[in-house]
Amino acid sequence: MSYLQLKNVEKRYGDVRVIKGIDLTIEKGEFVVFVGPSGCGKSTLLRMIAGLNEVDGGSIELDGRDITSLPSSKRDLAMVFQSYALYPHMTVADNMSFALRLANVDKAVIKEKVGRAAEILNLSQYLDRTPKDLSGGQRQRVAIGRAIVRAPKVFLFDEPLSNLDAALRGETRIEIATLHRELGATTIYVTHDQVEAMTLADRVVVLRDGEIEQAGAPLDLYDQPANKFVAQFIGTPQMNVVDTAELPTLRSAVGAAAAQQGFIGVRPENVIVKPGSDGALRGKVELIESLGSDTLIYTKVGAEAGKHVQLISRQNTRTALRPGDAVSLDIAPDSFHIFNRQGQAVAAHAQ
Ligand code: ADP
Ligand code: MG
Repeated sequence: MSYLQLKNVEKRYGDVRVIKGIDLTIEKGEFVVFVGPSGCGKSTLLRMIAGLNEVDGGSIELDGRDITSLPSSKRDLAMVFQSYALYPHMTVADNMSFALRLANVDKAVIKEKVGRAAEILNLSQYLDRTPKDLSGGQRQRVAIGRAIVRAPKVFLFDEPLSNLDAALRGETRIEIATLHRELGATTIYVTHDQVEAMTLADRVVVLRDGEIEQAGAPLDLYDQPANKFVAQFIGTPQMNVVDTAELPTLRSAVGAAAAQQGFIGVRPENVIVKPGSDGALRGKVELIESLGSDTLIYTKVGAEAGKHVQLISRQNTRTALRPGDAVSLDIAPDSFHIFNRQGQAVAAHAQ
């Protein structure tokens, strides 16, 4: 039996179904990330697991027990939010120990637990400060520490890094990953950022419009997206997905000879830009983004159906090309994906 089990979980606001029957099982110790665009229902689902939002249909079981109607305080879960919600007048130590003091836990035990959490989170030297004298990253670590001292069955995170600047976000992401390795605690983490999802998760659950589009190991989603949405949501820059009707020559360029109507997807690293004209597709460079380690080349190709199509290529070498240059493109062998008219993946290499 799974540790946490969602069975046909539903949520409605008025007439609007925002969570449309989610089935999901999470194993003990697993780090699961819910990812999806803003408004797809990530927070709502997490809050239902936390007991902060009522469940309108289905059930939730934790460690063999039905918790669907259990109040949040009895669920043995700890949630970390985007806003740290620390008590401003309390020290770091008091913020972290608040729940334990409320539960009348022995003082020596509290001291030991807070000390241990502070050590894990590199907060030992800040225990006597108040939140206003901490950086954003430190505040977020205090919020995480507050969750750790409670030793919950499951950690729930809702976009915990969104308020941090890019460098701090990267740093804190690594800390959260390390924390999970050390504590091995079951974790559900919500983010709209697919890089966070890819780097933190044992398993990524891609949500869209209140439904699961696909769940799987990060690289499995990258290599075998089940549909066009997942294909373009995971990976940056996003996968080139072209309507075959708009660029019929792409079919022969990838070697998919069958006259299948639908979409062909190619990741930017598999679009190879060549000077001259011996590549499979002719085009003109529109834009170049030089990132140092990577170069992104945006090329306009084909006007066969009266429409130009833009393909993005990513290479790890620099380029002497300039916007306006004539180029040709090749597609790396066996690197394409095929989606039918409904956007569902069909055996990519069956052609
Ligand atoms: P996410 O966290 O993925 O951005 P949310 O779970 O916050 O999305 O919201 C999912 C959907 O439910 C959105 O369309 C949102 O507008 C709607 N929603 C969230 N909370 C409420 C509420 N209290 N009342 C009505 N609609 C809500
Ligand atoms: Mg949210």
